[in-house]
Amino acid sequence: MNVNRIELPQSTDALLVTKPENVRYLSGFTAPEDAWVLWRPEGGLLLTDARYAEQAPAESRLPVEIVNPREGRGFLEPHVRGLRVGYEAGHLPCAELERLGEATTARWQATAGIVEKARTVKTSEEIARIRAAAELADRGFAFVLELLRAGARERDLALELEFWLRKQGAEGPAFDFIVASGPRGALPHGVASDKVIEAGELVTLDFGAIVGGYRSDMTRTVAVGSVAPELRRIFDVTLAALEAALEAARPGVRARELDAVARGVIEEAGYGERFVHSLGHGVGLEIHEAPFLHRSSEDVLEPGMVVTLEPGIYVPGVGGVRIEELVVVTASGIVLLSHSPRSWTEV
Ligand code: ZN
Ligand code: ZN
Repeated sequence: MNVNRIELPQSTDALLVTKPENVRYLSGFTAPEDAWVLWRPEGGLLLTDARYAEQAPAESRLPVEIVNPREGRGFLEPHVRGLRVGYEAGHLPCAELERLGEATTARWQATAGIVEKARTVKTSEEIARIRAAAELADRGFAFVLELLRAGARERDLALELEFWLRKQGAEGPAFDFIVASGPRGALPHGVASDKVIEAGELVTLDFGAIVGGYRSDMTRTVAVGSVAPELRRIFDVTLAALEAALEAARPGVRARELDAVARGVIEEAGYGERFVHSLGHGVGLEIHEAPFLHRSSEDVLEPGMVVTLEPGIYVPGVGGVRIEELVVVTASGIVLLSHSPRSWTEV
């Protein structure tokens, strides 16, 4: 799999990559928690320990050096002697930076978001993996819809869905699934609880699968029997906000403008204060990654970006609605990766 060009800041000669998703992106190595990449304009080097002496060279696109981190960080010195080396300030612990400073003659410089920026535009192979994860999730939704009824427990639905996805080939759940029913629907991050679902409630399910290291992300809100008119109304407003955003999404549009389109629909309906999060986010090796679609985002949509659009309305004590689609930006517009019906559904 190819990766995009890594733009090192002019002030650095090399970058020490320690964040696992970035290590995996650059190398293809599937145990990135136990590895670093030293990236230089002329190429990279994967550093890992003896447990991976066989696996790392088999998986890594980069040359591999087996090191012994128990003996300190001296193994880096031959590669970084006298260089200006960037480190990932958002990830590297202070204690590790001290060890690097003591063990090498490099000048260490804080950097942020260098590999993450390259990761925003996906290759066709990355998109194929995300698409496969999203297709699995679509089938998982059809499965779990059969179990969704008054009397079911939120936690059981989440567990059944995760087990089903794994049996169908997912490497794991993309994150802790959200199953939020009734008043719990007002919690934007209501991870499945012991609560039993009751008739007359809305249920929000937010879930995804992992395929080849890449994640999917989708949310649906469904009604259990007939619900109070206000719940139906916030569903309709949320759906209208999502559809306005889908309509406006295309390459060249600013993320903040897209957020404003969806937010405008919700504000006009009088629920502006109840849309408490941003419109969406990039998805890939991480469940939340750049670009970020929020009010003050500087990001602009480009072909190859994979992002969510997920407006929501949360009314404390009453309930909530979120509907989330996963899309890939193309040269002329967007293509949906999630295909489950999003229209009003009563079970
Ligand atoms: Zn989600
Ligand atoms: Zn999301």
